[in-house]
Amino acid sequence: MKVVAYSIKPFEKEFLARANQKKHDITLISNALSLDTASFAEGKDAVVVFTNDDVSRDVVNKLADLGIKYIATRSGGTDHIDKKAAEKRGIKLANVPSYSPQAIAEHAVALALALSRKLEKAIEQGHHFNFRQDELIGFNFYNKTVGIIGLGHIGLATAAIFNGFGCKVLGYDVVVPGNLQDIKLTALDELLSGSDVISIHVPLTDQTKHMINAQAIAKMKPGVMIINTSRGGLIKTSDILPALESGKVGYLGLDVYEFEKGLFFEDHTGDKQKDSMLKRLIENPNVLITPHQAFLTKEALQEIANQTIANLDLWQQEKCVGDACVNKECKTKTTARPLKMDHTNLLP
Ligand code: NAD
Repeated sequence: MKVVAYSIKPFEKEFLARANQKKHDITLISNALSLDTASFAEGKDAVVVFTNDDVSRDVVNKLADLGIKYIATRSGGTDHIDKKAAEKRGIKLANVPSYSPQAIAEHAVALALALSRKLEKAIEQGHHFNFRQDELIGFNFYNKTVGIIGLGHIGLATAAIFNGFGCKVLGYDVVVPGNLQDIKLTALDELLSGSDVISIHVPLTDQTKHMINAQAIAKMKPGVMIINTSRGGLIKTSDILPALESGKVGYLGLDVYEFEKGLFFEDHTGDKQKDSMLKRLIENPNVLITPHQAFLTKEALQEIANQTIANLDLWQQEKCVGDACVNKECKTKTTARPLKMDHTNLLP
């Protein structure tokens, strides 16, 4: 299959090459997909994209005009793709539904621990040989109540870690999962009002956009910690800023930001004035922001590459990609795809 893969970072190339084994003719380019760069897809069968690529209606239509039949995203989330437009033009879509939930769960917990134990401050002080402890008092997670919004792959993996810390874990989801471990299912309002820490693991959809807004924050405990490794648009940034500044929200850990497109994944050292809300967040000592890196482990990168190539393999054989199919109307969707996680050959 002839493929162009957009937004490729140098560190991804080896993982993709190892997964592809020269089966598909893949052109790797660093440019993001946009109306301007869609022309690179001319003569190809498929495009491979990532979360910051523009896969909106106009771009999808341009890709369809160029003869593209398949779009595979190297992400679990598919909120960056206009699925209706793709379906209308007969383009098949695939994602990587569950490449390494632990990678994201562990990062969510890393943000929570770094905030509670004031690691950023301690490390910064240490760089100046300042080893005072006055401003480094943290809190235990043991015996605290952690609310997990979204009990899918990542939510359950996050709950398991907090359970291990000795936390009481509350969970909310629109679908009740089979394996609840030690999670107490609650209504959303009960979770918001009863949790010391809230970690968000739902996809960004019309229903979940801005689910953490002023009304939701008003129901939370004073000083609550909020962790978002899911999608930036789940939190209404203009509502959380005053809540942080008043102390209603005590800590905020973000791996994703509402307006990250065009900022995250690149060096914007000279653009500090570009986004005043992001600047206000970064300057708040109770906020920790990482640049959408929760997925960035060797294991996850290899699994993303493996599953992306497996999607292309199945399309080439004119088969459905099973769980990875994100076309709502797909009638042939199965869960039959066997996926073997083999990380023995990972780079050091
Ligand atoms: P998943 O599909 O396994 O789980 C999502 C859960 O959310 C499901 O159980 C679903 O029922 C629930 N849900 C959907 N709409 C809801 C609503 N309105 N209210 C309550 N629950 C709702 O997905 P996952 O693998 O756990 O991933 C979750 C999200 O994490 C992805 O959609 C993606 O946006 C994000 N993600 C981020 C990174 C990163 O690097 N930061 C990496 C991977 C995934």
